[in-house]
Amino acid sequence: MTTPRLLIHPYTLPLARPITTAAGHFTTRQGVWVEVRDLEHGEFGLGEAATWPGFGSGRLGMESIAARFEAAAADWSVKGGVEGVKEALEGFQGGVEERFALETALLDAVARFEQRPLGALFGVQTPRRSVAVHVLVKDEDDAVEAVADGARHLKVKVGAALLELDDARLGRIRAAVGSAVALRLDANGAWDLETAPVAVERLARHGIEFIEQPVAADDIEALARVRRQTGVKIGADEAVVSTQALEQILELEAADVVVLKPMFVGGALVALEMAAKARACGVSVMLTHALESAVGRLAALHLASAMPEPLLACGLAGRPAGMPEGVAYPAVVEGRMVVPGASGLGVGQEVMAWS
Ligand SMILES: [Mg+2]
Repeated sequence: MTTPRLLIHPYTLPLARPITTAAGHFTTRQGVWVEVRDLEHGEFGLGEAATWPGFGSGRLGMESIAARFEAAAADWSVKGGVEGVKEALEGFQGGVEERFALETALLDAVARFEQRPLGALFGVQTPRRSVAVHVLVKDEDDAVEAVADGARHLKVKVGAALLELDDARLGRIRAAVGSAVALRLDANGAWDLETAPVAVERLARHGIEFIEQPVAADDIEALARVRRQTGVKIGADEAVVSTQALEQILELEAADVVVLKPMFVGGALVALEMAAKARACGVSVMLTHALESAVGRLAALHLASAMPEPLLACGLAGRPAGMPEGVAYPAVVEGRMVVPGASGLGVGQEVMAWS
């Protein structure tokens, strides 16, 4: 019998770039790292929980999770593999971010014990060595720089300014990068049902791959209506809050693309199941991180390395919150992010010194 110990490390980390959204201006990222230990086998694993306005449960109570975990998973051991992780999390009660943290830590410990990269646990024969990613750009200068660095997919946030300004900005970006680069847009739910079809059709004239969340997350019927009215490819992001929400999106044919954030769906294993459901309905999948530290971001990258095709270019690029200058992080080469080949996540307890 193994006694795991779960340690909680709260953090406040500087974001590599400040972020302004409808919910406010952010210069730091707060959350917790969890560290799970299998004392018998001398192994540890790391996970991370971090909330974000508009996504997930929005609350963290990791201390009570830890107490329940000690009681519910007294039999957990790294020797149990992925099945053992599923058993340890059966009947889990808590927020999606906490579930993601605990699952990631357990999977990391198992992968370290098996001396495999975390992505190798997901049942794929050979995980990808690199994952196609997009680069977030705000104007033509950004876009030209990203393409010069090898980016093939650019993402542009829209909906925060007048439609005319977004339209002109997109026109400049398209003119600067040419037709071979994919442009994807994200409105983060900015428009109402009257404005959305007009805005989507106008911006789509610049040749776009798809547009995320033209209308608010809680109105899946409106999303479906925009898709039907415009014929433009629509992505669901904030709307994908659960398996039930995904099923409604699929049933109403509300999206061509679903964005899965392991942090906000409750972990990699749930995300894999959701992706399979989407694919079965002909809906494409992309994975993104939650602007968190290297722990959560690497968990998402490893999951992406194991996702069956087709997988769209993912939102995994960017420097993690709190990572000091000079510390190596998976590079993006020719638009693809290199997946760490080391055991587990590819990052260890040194992260704890970064907060
Ligand atoms: Mg989005």
